[in-house]
Formats: sequence, C-alpha cells, structure tokens
Amino acid sequence: MFKRFRRLRMNATLRSLVRETTLSMDDFIYPLFAKSGEGFKKEIGSMPGVFQMSIDEIIKECGSLQDLGINSIILFGIPEVKDSVGSDALCEHGIIASTIKAVKKAYPNMFVVTDLCFCEFTDHGHCGILDIEHESVDNDATLEILAKQALVHAHAGADMIAPSGMMDGMIEALREALDSEGFINLPIMSYSTKFASAYYGPFRDVAESAPSFGDRKTYQMDPANRREAIAESVEDEMQGADILMVKPALAYLDIIRDVRNATSTPLCIYNVSGEYAMLKAAGRAGVIDYERVMMETMIAFKRAGADMIISYHAKEVAEVLRRK
Ligand SMILES: [Zn+2]
Repeated sequence: MFKRFRRLRMNATLRSLVRETTLSMDDFIYPLFAKSGEGFKKEIGSMPGVFQMSIDEIIKECGSLQDLGINSIILFGIPEVKDSVGSDALCEHGIIASTIKAVKKAYPNMFVVTDLCFCEFTDHGHCGILDIEHESVDNDATLEILAKQALVHAHAGADMIAPSGMMDGMIEALREALDSEGFINLPIMSYSTKFASAYYGPFRDVAESAPSFGDRKTYQMDPANRREAIAESVEDEMQGADILMVKPALAYLDIIRDVRNATSTPLCIYNVSGEYAMLKAAGRAGVIDYERVMMETMIAFKRAGADMIISYHAKEVAEVLRRK
C-alpha cells in the first residue's frame, strides 16, 4: 500500500487549496535610490529596470508603485558630496532627509523605510568612521553617528529605520537614541545577519558605494558561518530589533530557515542586486523562463521562512500576481 500524493495535484483549484505558501504584494518592500537634481533618471547598466532618480522622479515612481499595490519602499541616498564621516547623512537637508519629507508629503500612506548606514555617504566607502591604525571601521565611534543619522531620519518622518552597517551594539544604541527623543513607536528593522557577499556587486554601481580600499570582512559576516549567523540575529532581537533580516537571500535559504526557527521576531530577507542581475542576464540570454524562475525564487524565500522580501523584482511580481 502506497500513498497517492498525485491525488491532490489533479486540478488547479485543488492545488491551490493545499498550497502551503503564497505570495502577495503585502510581502514586498521596493528599493529606491535617491540622487540630487531634477528630472534625473538613470538606469544602472548591470541592473536593467533599476534607476538612480532625483526626488521628483521618485515621487512619480511612488505613484506607480501604489498603483501596483506596493506600499512600502526602502530608501538609499547618493549625496552630492561625500566626506570622511558621511556628513550628508547627518544633515536635515541631506538627500535622504529631503527624500523622506517629499515622499511623505506626496504619499502620506507610503510606508518609508530608510537604510541607515554610511557607505553611500563616505568618500572611502566604508560603513562608518575609519580606524586608520587597524584599517577598519571604529565600531563605537560609528554607533554615535549612527544614532545621529537615525534621529535625522526620524525627524524627517521615516516610518521605520533599517541599520545595515553590522556594527556591534547598534540596535541598543539606536533604540536608546530614538526613545530619548520620543520616537518610542518607531520600529527598527535590523540587517541582523548580513554576509560579506560578492552578490552585492551591482548595488555598488547604483549606490556608488564600493570601498576605496580593503573590504567589509571585519564587520560583515563570513559566508561559511552558520552558528554565528543565528547568534547575530538572536543578539539583535535581544537588543530590541523589531524585525530581523538575512542578506543576501538566494544562497542563504538555510540561514533564513535557521533564523526563523531560532526566533519569533518577524523576518525580512534582501533579494540582492547580484541575484537580480543574474536572473535578468539569464532571461535576456534566453536560457531560462524569466518570469517563472522569478516567481519560484520568491516563493522559495517565503517557504524558507521570510515574512517580507526586499526585491528589485517587486514591480514585476505585482504584474504577474495581477494577471492571475
Ligand atoms: Zn554600509
């Protein structure tokens, strides 16, 4: 006597009744890259369909995102001037603060998440203040300016801040700073388990954030480490992170599942630029059915344990879901 699994696969309605995982546009956060200027919209060569945009173009984009049912964005900024401490990120008239204000004014119900880091704002491209002697980033000095940056975002009207710099103690420091100025209800989504990954390559083109020397291996995680990956997220949960994250996603599905099983905190994953670029390139080369591979990849993230997905594919996913 054997079990006939195929019995429940015999028609589409039955298959959808027994489907264990689903996708909806409520799951998605769409990344946007803000640059100064007006009427500026430049596509990134390695990431077809992804643009650097001036604030007026971002506002237009937010309109079309909401038409597609996408109500959450995560903002990255490319400042006009970069310096050693990332001053633009600490200024209430800086590119991110200005973008937050403009978006919230035009679309009050657009949920605006802000990436909180310094690599796009420093002339050396590292995620904080340099510790020259050790050719690395000074952890505790960076916590201080991270707290300042968080308050700039909070005062500008951000709905959630997302620190991505992998500094130790960053969640505790940020929670304290936000609470001290009354932002007790502003959530923190931590890039809690972030690997030093080659999959970030194309992002550094769009965010203009490649380090001018060295790499990020003294603060981002070794891709080989599974126990440490879980411990990083559990630590951020204990420090008060409201949402955790695993980044990248596709090569780290095991880590997504591990973190899901280790905590009860909501979990986001970042489907990164290199993952997007690979699918695009394979689709354009005609070697895969792009749309089906994209949807299968998204469902894999959910199945692995993700509650929400940051993805450059979000608009295309919305179009596929709408046709269904
Ligand atoms: Zn960074």
